[in-house]
Amino acid sequence: KGTLMQGKKGLVMGVANDRSIAWGIASAVAAQGGEMAFTYQGEALGKRVTPLAESIGASLVLPCDVTDDAAIDAVFTKLEQEWGELDFVVHAIGWADKKYLRGRYVDTPRDAFLTALDISCYSFTAVAQRAARLMKNGGSLLTLSYLGAERVMPHYNVMGVAKAALEASVRYMAADLGKDAIRVNAISAGPIKTLAASGIGDFRYILKWNQYNAPLERNVALEEVGGAGLYMLSDLSSGVTGEVHHVDSGYHMVGMKNPTAPDI
Ligand code: NAD
Repeated sequence: KGTLMQGKKGLVMGVANDRSIAWGIASAVAAQGGEMAFTYQGEALGKRVTPLAESIGASLVLPCDVTDDAAIDAVFTKLEQEWGELDFVVHAIGWADKKYLRGRYVDTPRDAFLTALDISCYSFTAVAQRAARLMKNGGSLLTLSYLGAERVMPHYNVMGVAKAALEASVRYMAADLGKDAIRVNAISAGPIKTLAASGIGDFRYILKWNQYNAPLERNVALEEVGGAGLYMLSDLSSGVTGEVHHVDSGYHMVGMKNPTAPDI
């Protein structure tokens, strides 16, 4: 077992099961001696998250629907009581009504837009406000984004708009919190088969497209996003803030289809 995260305490939000990106990052942190609290959305997921959290010795497993300010407050009150301070947060939460994760973005109604932006973007700001107060010795805040923030991806639609806002919020919060030695970064992950991803139209096609056209000619594994998460949360990245770090087999910088890729 490594010691990179020894003595650090953090909150991990967004584990739904053992294929969640949040779980990939938590596993990497646990292997380096970090101590973690977990939140879950709703009792059904609580039953899945609790044994996972216990498997790495986490004692704090709390409910939190991020649309509810009181629920977020309750989490941080508990963390303050139990730990008094905090070193890192993983925010791996996103949601949009899957009815609008297909077809045209331009058809998105107001309520679907507001809910997607609330859960997928504002919640990171709401969490950062409370976390920053507990980060007395500095800290690291990390969220998850996707290339659909920067470029148009079929079906990603309102989530792409939400991720663009999320990435902008990373930069604004990095500027606000830098003087307190609190770093704010995002990992822009390539497509990974998770519960959230299954809501996106034609996700299997997206996986194949990335596999054939990314420089590494494969998709990324959960463990690889976990490793990048560990870097962002640890002191290895102490000079890094306001960054959107791509962990996508290099796909983000490709300008054209790989001419030798097979047809999908
Ligand atoms: P996941 O389904 O395992 O995780 C999504 C989490 O969001 C779940 O734990 C869910 O409970 C939580 N969530 C949704 N609404 C919530 C709410 N109102 N309150 C509290 N929690 C809520 O899927 P994932 O792919 O691991 O997603 C994690 C993050 O990674 C998301 O932000 C997603 O957009 C991002 N991401 C995923 C991919 C991918 O291909 N899977 C790629 C890039 C970025």
